[in-house]
Amino acid sequence: MDNPSSFPSEAFLAGSWVKTARTFSVRSPATGSLLAEVADCGAAEARIAIESAAEIFPQWKSATAYVRSNLLRQWHGSILRAAETLAQTMAQEMGKPIAEARREVLYAASFVEWYAEEAKRIYGETVPSQHPQKRILVRSQPVGPVYGITPWNFPAAMVTRKVAPALAAGCPFVLKPAEESPLTALLLAKLWEESGGWPALFQVLPSSDPESLSAPFLADSRVRKLTFTGSTPVGKRLYKRSASTLKRVSLELGGGAPFLVFSDADLEKAADGAITAKFRNGGQSCVAANAFYLQKEIAREFTRLFAERVASLRLGDPLDERTQVGPLVNVQGLGKVRELVQDALARGAKTVLGGPSRELFFPPTILAEVASHSRLLEEEIFGPVAPLRTFETEEEALAAARRGRAGLAAYLWTRDLERALRFAEEIPYGIIGINDPLPSTAQAPFGGFRESGIGREGGKWGLAEYLEPQYLSLGLD
Ligand code: NAD
Repeated sequence: MDNPSSFPSEAFLAGSWVKTARTFSVRSPATGSLLAEVADCGAAEARIAIESAAEIFPQWKSATAYVRSNLLRQWHGSILRAAETLAQTMAQEMGKPIAEARREVLYAASFVEWYAEEAKRIYGETVPSQHPQKRILVRSQPVGPVYGITPWNFPAAMVTRKVAPALAAGCPFVLKPAEESPLTALLLAKLWEESGGWPALFQVLPSSDPESLSAPFLADSRVRKLTFTGSTPVGKRLYKRSASTLKRVSLELGGGAPFLVFSDADLEKAADGAITAKFRNGGQSCVAANAFYLQKEIAREFTRLFAERVASLRLGDPLDERTQVGPLVNVQGLGKVRELVQDALARGAKTVLGGPSRELFFPPTILAEVASHSRLLEEEIFGPVAPLRTFETEEEALAAARRGRAGLAAYLWTRDLERALRFAEEIPYGIIGINDPLPSTAQAPFGGFRESGIGREGGKWGLAEYLEPQYLSLGLD
């Protein structure tokens, strides 16, 4: 797959693969080599996509649940058959280690499978009326054409987590993938088409100018929903710009998860969990553990166990089967991680493990005694750096977990379930892993409190984001 011509590179617009006047380059962050010159869509393509989505919406809305379900099921099968190609594509375009990329493909496919099943379970309800001559019926209608924007860090799963529930609900979907990772998204569209999916239902418009491409979608009242996954500043901007047409909006934004280890935790398991929660995807995950808070009695032992594991992580070529941590996605990401580490060191943090970076490869790093107002604790790191702090009382731990404005994921390690539940109820996070570093799964609600977003993806909650309840009040003779 390292031959540029073997990657899909045209836009999938109104049911056809089209070239555009301009293209942009997609390069491997590991080697800098050119992978593909990809169609660069703008406002003209956006307008065509909107027309096409609006035109096909009535047919898709009235297709039976069984038709929708079957097409999703076929897409699921074709994703699994192409799993290796998808994994190789994402490993090359954004640097995810290949073993992890294979797991992401299975995770991405699990949303398609789940929503193929859920498509048949969009039930209505009857509600008792206080009037003997009235009946109250409630049914679900698809919200309408959807515009979706996804980030580069999970190039397959972020796409299927949106597209599958939208299609199951009866909504056509136009996707703008991230500039860094359009190839996986285009491949998913190819698989949708090849598996018999109606082509115009799922369009993919890569662009190097997301602002200009998005403007027509945000302004057009036929586009009834915006679903966005990405950074909080961009999410806020899109939220404001969707207001003029009162779109339904789902925003999956930045995280900054606290990882708390209490003195009664199983420390071996907590240290294993810390590796997963921190170093999966090189720390470039919205649910990545951002800051570690360790109860004083176990801080030294946990640090030893954690450092032992971090020291053995293999940093390297994403296509090497043994690699556990790949490169950061781009120089901006690298610059930010470096700045945050320098800030912490300048405020007195001690290096437990670390070293110089080489090109985009940043070595797995642990910093202890990180000062309370260090940027590492206040900003989303999005890199393989673990800052450690200690706490003595549960009140101190609560204060640490409540700081900041994000509210996506938090991790608690304790054998005391009563404490875990009490603590979970007191902290403002949408996802809480209790002795579990990997809570994300297709059937559960994924999303954040506070400034981590609006809405949920996954399970019945993810489907409801694409449905409008319609109430029929029936007067009888
Ligand atoms: P980003 O906001 O820079 O980019 C995300 C997407 O938005 C990309 O497709 C980009 O092209 C597009 N975009 C950027 N500016 C835009 C504009 N003005 N108008 C329209 N679209 C625009 O974020 P990123 O750096 O690619 O991704 C990392 C961020 O995503 C992190 O903050 C991470 O926490 C977040 N994230 C959240 C979740 C979640 O489910 N909550 C999941 C994955 C990533």
